[in-house]
Amino acid sequence: MRAVRLHAPGEAMRLDEIPTPEPSGTEVRISVAGCGVCRTDLHIVDGTQTRVSLPVTLGHEVAGYVDAVGADADGAPPIGQAVLVYGGWGCGRCRECLAGAEQRCDRSMAPGFQADGGYAEAMLVPHPRHLVPLQQLDPVRAAPLADAGVTPYRAVRRAERWLVPGARVVVIGAGALGQFALQYLRLVPEHESDLTVAVQELSASRLERATELGADLALLDPAPEVLRTALGGAADVVLDFVGTDATLTQAAAVVAPDGLVVLVGEAGGTLSFGFERPPVEAWLTTVAWGSLDDLRAVVRLAEDGLLRWEVEPVPLADASAAHARLRADDVRGRLVLVP
Ligand SMILES: [Zn+2]
Ligand SMILES: [Zn+2]
Repeated sequence: MRAVRLHAPGEAMRLDEIPTPEPSGTEVRISVAGCGVCRTDLHIVDGTQTRVSLPVTLGHEVAGYVDAVGADADGAPPIGQAVLVYGGWGCGRCRECLAGAEQRCDRSMAPGFQADGGYAEAMLVPHPRHLVPLQQLDPVRAAPLADAGVTPYRAVRRAERWLVPGARVVVIGAGALGQFALQYLRLVPEHESDLTVAVQELSASRLERATELGADLALLDPAPEVLRTALGGAADVVLDFVGTDATLTQAAAVVAPDGLVVLVGEAGGTLSFGFERPPVEAWLTTVAWGSLDDLRAVVRLAEDGLLRWEVEPVPLADASAAHARLRADDVRGRLVLVP
């Protein structure tokens, strides 16, 4: 089968011909329908992403069809069932896994990082529990939900305690994840009309999209004072979907005392932390994907037609060109590689 693989950091990806993997034990083989291209894939190619085992087939936003099952894959969906692949493959036995947070497991593996992912015609999933069945959703369209959809869901969920009526929220970055976040903020039912949501971006077209998706304020790279004035005060929640030194500095400058900064974007930025900055008693947290329950909730929202997102299918063989377009910011929806 064909697979787009990275052999060494900094090298170009290669379209390789490799044997189709056979599932054994609890494994399930998925015939890939589509795999989203995520900015983290660029970090992996560049060698700046930690915890990657090379060579590897990239791709962690995978949807497809159950194709073959191992002898012990009890409870696997039937052959031919459309599924979305949950990417946080934990050990299944530790405290995190048993609490339903497999993505936080010490020994967790993820497709496209330490295990072969979805830039291929097929891939193996270690256990049927990592599959979320799709009903009406087309798998090519559903693929980005596995990361771009679920990660901001978890970010908003982690911010729930701060999302009280009247809360001021800043979303930094309105790419694929930020666009989902805006929708989740509007879906917190009791606060629908009570939040003030400001989006900051470097791209005017993404700001326009953010406004369509319900942002109250759309600001092009604002200075901290400008943002605070526009919001009517300091932010109760800052969701940073970029994660550079600059955006984290901005987050620390606009968050309120006792406010929350959620770092989601993996651009590798850091923030110094002390009594001077961020403001006193502010909270900092990160988000690592979502749990299996988070992904199921996102799929339910999508199946119910409550989420809007765009995908652009691209042939698998054009993976390198897709990466170049993402680097050049030449994408509107999520690029999805189709084998
Ligand atoms: Zn990703
Ligand atoms: Zn575990």
